[in-house]
Amino acid sequence: MKIAVIGTGYVGLVAGVCFAALGHDVICLDKDKSKIHNLKKGIIPIHEPDLPELLQKCVNKGNLSFSTDYSDMNACEVVIIAVGTPATKSGAANLKYLNEVVEKIATISTENKVVVIKSTVPVGTAGQVKSQFTKIRPDLKFELISNPEFLREGSAVFDFMKPDRVVIGCEKGAKKYAEELYRPLTAKNIPIIYVSNTTAELIKYSANCYLAMRIAFINEMADLAEKAGADIDEIAKGMGHDKRIGLHYLKAGPGYGGSCFPKDTQALVRYAKDQKANSKIIEAVIKSNKERKEKMAAKVINAAKEVKGKTIAVLGLAFKADTDDLRDSASIVLVNKLTKAGYEVKAYDPSKPYKEARKLMKGLEFANSANEAIKDADVICIATEWSEFKNIDLAKAKKIVKHKVIIDLRNVISKEYAVDSGFKYISVGRQDA
Ligand code: NAD
Repeated sequence: MKIAVIGTGYVGLVAGVCFAALGHDVICLDKDKSKIHNLKKGIIPIHEPDLPELLQKCVNKGNLSFSTDYSDMNACEVVIIAVGTPATKSGAANLKYLNEVVEKIATISTENKVVVIKSTVPVGTAGQVKSQFTKIRPDLKFELISNPEFLREGSAVFDFMKPDRVVIGCEKGAKKYAEELYRPLTAKNIPIIYVSNTTAELIKYSANCYLAMRIAFINEMADLAEKAGADIDEIAKGMGHDKRIGLHYLKAGPGYGGSCFPKDTQALVRYAKDQKANSKIIEAVIKSNKERKEKMAAKVINAAKEVKGKTIAVLGLAFKADTDDLRDSASIVLVNKLTKAGYEVKAYDPSKPYKEARKLMKGLEFANSANEAIKDADVICIATEWSEFKNIDLAKAKKIVKHKVIIDLRNVISKEYAVDSGFKYISVGRQDA
């Protein structure tokens, strides 16, 4: 199939590259000229494992290209929308970018189109978009497919190529296009769940809110485990091996962040309010997660106070490992609270998202390596679970840090290794050692 993907961010770029790798002919469109200029030269704007190699392979094969010219989508049967839907002040999803794209598609299209909404959008959006198309172009037929995306940053290529399931919301007439689009995956026995557009839209919010709830839950259990003298990682294992529960998203930490959970939980609450329906659980999740981030900053400050420290090495700024995405990262709250309290922060993140970090966090120093951040700092705080930090050389670290104190907000370092290396080790949901 010839397809256009509009919006070349974390989702659109991965979807475009993966659809090309699956054999489709793909044009990735974005309004950001410098992004497209760089992509044409093979420069990828995000940190995502396996993406650069796959992109180059498809470009070399000749079935993946990049453009800022909307008229290029006229050569395509299917147009996939993957623009951002960030939260507005009220918590509702901001559909500004989606609406811009819909208007462009409607005005520029020369033939009937199949439009796939991959962005996470509020319930009812597909219906509204369809009416918008019909209003602008009554001469053309637009089939609307809701196809929420479930990939995780950091393993996005793997998740796209081997999803647990694909969700397709559409009317009868559009089903054949979805079947063709995803044939390379169904041929590998990946299940497709066909539902209505509104059900597909609500599946996405339900899934993300449920996962956010699991994280908030395990973080609250971590606090209890600390008080009880128990170990949260063992509790998660003991719970998660129960097939009814499962092991995923039961890792205690500094609170969830990223471009999805924070905004999608808020959007669900907003939608429920508009519908005069209950969303008490997710409201509590949002509150619990906000408090968690603040509490973790207080935990680091307490540890620094104990050694009368002034400088903190923060290892990890991205909201999770293997991505450079800082959106709603727990590290933003952490660093801003630390600098506000008068601490000096030396930060290091392996993806080096420092240009963006400068806009979100004030008054910190950026390092080029973990050792550079640790050198002459008073204490070390691990804020993102990069494998580089799991394997950190503590024999070297203890020679360059002022006080041998690690606050591990991700429980990534082995407690025994830290203690044997002479460090005081403070983690989450476990006893200090
Ligand atoms: P992003 O901000 O990384 O990318 C959005 C892209 O759209 C940007 O490159 C931007 O320049 C482009 N854009 C905006 N307006 C445009 C226009 N009018 N024409 C052309 N391009 C335009 O966003 P993202 O993280 O990829 O998320 C996209 C959607 O996918 C969101 O709705 C998000 O909730 C959803 N989603 C994200 C993830 C994730 O892990 N990031 C996972 C699943 C679903």
